[in-house]
Amino acid sequence: MEKYLREEIKSLVAYEVIDRDYKVKLDANEGIEWIKGLNRYPGDRSDELREELAEQLGRNKDEILLGNGSSELIELVMKAYLEAGETVASFSPTFSMYRNFTIMHKGKYVGYPLENMKKLNVDGFVEFVHEEKAKIVILTNPNNPTGLLIPKEDIVKIIKSVDAMVILDEAYIEFSDGPQNETMEEFENLIILRTFSKAMSLAGIRLGYMVSNEKNIEYINRVRSPFNVNMLTQEMGLKALKNRETTSKNIEIIKKERERMREFLQGKGIEPFSSAANFLFFTTSKEIFHALEDSAVLIKGFSGELEGYYRLTIGTPEENNSVIKVIEEVQNKNNEYK
Ligand code: PMP
Repeated sequence: MEKYLREEIKSLVAYEVIDRDYKVKLDANEGIEWIKGLNRYPGDRSDELREELAEQLGRNKDEILLGNGSSELIELVMKAYLEAGETVASFSPTFSMYRNFTIMHKGKYVGYPLENMKKLNVDGFVEFVHEEKAKIVILTNPNNPTGLLIPKEDIVKIIKSVDAMVILDEAYIEFSDGPQNETMEEFENLIILRTFSKAMSLAGIRLGYMVSNEKNIEYINRVRSPFNVNMLTQEMGLKALKNRETTSKNIEIIKKERERMREFLQGKGIEPFSSAANFLFFTTSKEIFHALEDSAVLIKGFSGELEGYYRLTIGTPEENNSVIKVIEEVQNKNNEYK
């Protein structure tokens, strides 16, 4: 929304690459080809990929912008909208990079505590955003690391009530049980972020996308580096979009495994938070964490305020069995000593 745009960006013009047919191309200081096609710059705005995404989402391609992971897109929103000293509000705990990006962009970051880390008090949050005069609000749905899914009515209420740009980070949305491909109806102040890193299992290609109205996309384009999504990534992204069955199959496996792991942990007296994502969040003994570590089975352990909490990414059935095996061994050993 222009109202929230940084003053300098209001008059900045986006770098424009004009694709023309050619016989000889000597206009971009590119080199001599030695790996097929890679001497050329990629398409600047990833047109083909955006068209395919637009079709799948039922949107227009000018409502989509691609980035080098959704991480880049979070930063681009800040580059466009956040003046030095202005506030970014989210809840707590959540994805830690929001704070880091805010600080890098000279902003102030504030987090509103979730109730017992399990529930968002929507009215309290809206009031908090007003009090803090936040310019950007970040909602992560489902949340990382807790797995909390905020109901759509609550999200809509927040978007409508705050005087700020809202980033709705849906990095894990495909693992939730709601409508899979529903993109939120348009709100002028809403920017939705998604990624190929989680449900699409392509963290290695670094690809994320933003969906918003054409105006917002045009503003963000002004602060995007030219050619920000490389040619190999564009190719792989397109391939993935045309191969949705693999993704759907993997999502089903992860959802089933998530419930199997939940039941296993509960059986061992560990109570994971309810999760609509591809991970479980829980508190347990250091002993279990270290036993996993000693077996070279990595799970995420948190520090600071989240000391004692762990996040287990749901893997393949075999990978998850490795976790089960280690935890069972620890418990059997403990029972022997009783
Ligand atoms: N948003 C959330 C909530 C995340 O958890 C992550 C990665 N952990 C990202 C964004 C960034 O993902 P990527 O840059 O790989 O798209």
